[in-house]
Amino acid sequence: MNNMKTNTLVHLYKQLKTLWSPPARLCSLATCTHKDRNDALHPLWQSPLSIPGGSRQSPINIQWRDSVYDPFLKPLKISYDPTTCLHIWNNGYSFLVEFDDSTDRSIIVGGPLENQYRLKQFHFHWGAINEWGSEHTVDSKFYPAELHLVHWNAVVYPSFEEAVMEGNGLAVIGVFLKLGAHHEGLQTLVDALPAVKHKDTVIEFDVFDPSCLIPSCPDYWTYAGSLTTPPLTESVTWIIKKKPIEVDENQLEAFRMLLFTSDGEEEKRMVDNFRPLQPLMNRTVRSSFQSSHVLNMEAQHSDHAQQIRP
Ligand SMILES: [Zn+2]
Repeated sequence: MNNMKTNTLVHLYKQLKTLWSPPARLCSLATCTHKDRNDALHPLWQSPLSIPGGSRQSPINIQWRDSVYDPFLKPLKISYDPTTCLHIWNNGYSFLVEFDDSTDRSIIVGGPLENQYRLKQFHFHWGAINEWGSEHTVDSKFYPAELHLVHWNAVVYPSFEEAVMEGNGLAVIGVFLKLGAHHEGLQTLVDALPAVKHKDTVIEFDVFDPSCLIPSCPDYWTYAGSLTTPPLTESVTWIIKKKPIEVDENQLEAFRMLLFTSDGEEEKRMVDNFRPLQPLMNRTVRSSFQSSHVLNMEAQHSDHAQQIRP
């Protein structure tokens, strides 16, 4: 790696560290026995200081019948340049696939958004077992994992750091992962994961188009929310895809082989890296699609993800 690239990497690392660093106290998995989802929380969420008094916090439970169809919601247009992909970084809470966001080469536009937003990074949240792992839920149903593609409003704000602090600064696409068929696109990423097993490891990961991880079905829900990791700022327009993608058990297991811990420390598996559900408060979840209770019930019956109430 040349010096310029190393400097960029260090700079990016410092920027993101303020957003993603877990507390010094590491997860004691001796107490995280995973008998129930609430016992399995990362220590990031065990301190009450981590939860600010906000009015639009995330994640939330999406109650299908309470979401409101908005016929004015446009289709979301996604245009990613695979060569803007830079590297994968285990930050001790998830693994981040980071992109060059210095120009408008990987962007989303449309949907509920007034401006175009640049892709900054994507990452996942997942459980120790298949019964939970997603941050959002649909009718109180958890999926085993959830993908977040994080974009920022470079039309209005000069930097990602400034966008993070503003109400219309970020747009995050959420995609649920369910257990099913092998996902060919995800496998490229899964194959690279052993190289970032430990916290604070970074590898180059050139050329990847994350649109292969987004279902082609255009339907989504949208609501105004927050980051689900510190600083938890209320800057996110959430776009949650209705249809999940399918991944197989081995692919989820590869996520669970990662570690929260650095090389040389006692190994702690990277699992259950999600924030608990937050109250909806005075918010409306809008849908880009019309639905009926009947359709809702059909979807529930055809979906094999477990329904567990925390
Ligand atoms: Zn996330």
